This record gives sequence, structure tokens and C-alpha cells, in this order.
Amino acid sequence: MTLGIILMDYWWLAIPGLLLGMYAQIKLMSTYGKYSRLGNASGMTGAQAAREILDSAGLHNMPVNEVGGRLTDHYDPIKKALFLSSENFHSSSIAAVGVAAHEAGHALQHKAAYAPLNIRMAMVPITNFASIAWSVILIAGIFLGMFQQFLGIAIILFTVIAAFQLITLPVEYDASRRAKEQLWRLGLVREQERPHVSKVLNAAALTYVAALVTSVLQLLQFIMLARGDRDRA
Ligand SMILES: [Zn+2]
Repeated sequence: MTLGIILMDYWWLAIPGLLLGMYAQIKLMSTYGKYSRLGNASGMTGAQAAREILDSAGLHNMPVNEVGGRLTDHYDPIKKALFLSSENFHSSSIAAVGVAAHEAGHALQHKAAYAPLNIRMAMVPITNFASIAWSVILIAGIFLGMFQQFLGIAIILFTVIAAFQLITLPVEYDASRRAKEQLWRLGLVREQERPHVSKVLNAAALTYVAALVTSVLQLLQFIMLARGDRDRA
């Protein structure tokens, strides 16, 4: 589908998002790589740090599970459980503790009924639908010779995706803010290690910014296509 988009008019609008996305991935991999090799002073694993933060918030029954893959760490609001990638679960690196605390931060958001998290959760089903439907609609439009009409529907669907990525930003930044607050408060990270933890969390957050920029630009491309077609008609 990406090829189809690139062949369209205003294809150049995709370039800034692609470049930012690549930069964000490289930045994350290099920062995470560096601080996953640097042990933290307390010798605490990611799993232990997450456990401490959850316990101190009264979430004693929330499990901290290990999950396969690299940087697959997440909080599951339906299972009300933390999932840490094997590396971050077992490692006592700066990165492991930072990422684990970030995921615990999502659990704290859930407990506090943090509004952007609730909005984001409510948007998951419609966003999952829109993520598949927009390209199906466009392909169908091309085959049926009704591209112009179907483009309008694709724009609505893509707006849902962009809105989801927009609401993801406060959720992610707030989770990192809560993570740092707890890591500092509980003394799980030493003063001199704090800038390193911040670097890891900032690099992770940048990937969400890149995803939003990419979507907004693609949405803009569709809108310009729709307007352009209208002008020619
Ligand atoms: Zn997160």
C-alpha cells in the first residue's frame, strides 16, 4: 500500500515523516543499546523496580510478567498486568529499570483514572478497524473507479488514526513523568543516573512523536489529493 501512496501526487509529503521515523528508531536503538549495557548502581532488575513501584502504589496483586521479543514491554489494561521483555525483566541496567518504571507508570495512570489513558483505551477498537479499513477502502476505490468518493471515507478513517496517535503522546509522556517521580522518590536510581534514565525515556517517546507526524502528513496528503481532484473537476 505504501507504494500506492508514493505513486500518488504530493508523495513528497511522506518524506519528513519517514526521515523523522528513521531518526527516532536509530536514536532509540543507540540510546537503549548504550544504557542496556550500563548497570544501575542499586543492582535492581527491571522486574524488581516495577514490583517496588507497584507495591508502593498499593498494586500488590498486579503481576509483572516476562514476555518474549525486544522492547515488547507494555502494560495490559484489560489483564491489569505488566509485561516486560526478557532483557528488561532480568537485566539490572539503567535502561531496564527506566523502561520497567515507565510501564509501571501506565499502571499508575490506570489506577488514577488518568483521562487521556481512558480516552486512548476507548479508542483502541475503532482505531484497529480504521488501521485496516482505510487502505482497503482506497484500493476498492481504485478498482471501482470511485477513488474520489472513497478518498473521503479514507480521510475520516485516517483522522481517527491520527487522533489516536495524538492522545497517545500525553499518555506516554505522563507515564515517563510518573516513572521518574517514583524512581527518584523510592531511591531506585541514584542522582547521577537520572539524566541517563531520562535519555532512554525521551528516546522512546520520540518514536511516538514520529508516528504522529507521519500520520498527520499522510492525512494532509489525502486532503490535498481530495482538494486537487476537486479543483481539476
Ligand atoms: Zn508507554
